Amino acid sequence: MVQGKQPVRRRHVPQRSCIACRRTDSKRSLIRVVRTPQQGVQLDPTGKLAGRGAYLCQARPCWQKAFKSSALNRALKTSLTVDELAALRVYADSLPDALESEESDVALTG
Ligand SMILES: [Zn+2]
Repeated sequence: MVQGKQPVRRRHVPQRSCIACRRTDSKRSLIRVVRTPQQGVQLDPTGKLAGRGAYLCQARPCWQKAFKSSALNRALKTSLTVDELAALRVYADSLPDALESEESDVALTG
């Protein structure tokens, strides 16, 4: 039995909510979309890009709902271009139909 790896500090885990289904979760388990001043709207797998961000579940239905309802436009306070939407759709297509309950390392780089 190995102990002592538990974090001592009880800090707030940043909670974010999916703009489509309103589910709240830790920042890490949601996908961030960010509107950057220079490069427009893009995926932000690292969560580090500066700009206005919106979060979505790692599940395709939430993304499709967001596309339909223009929740992204509202959340990012912009109108996504056709190209930006197309890039997000490609990404959404790679997502599972439902949330995976188990922790899995989805490779977002590359
Ligand atoms: Zn969601």
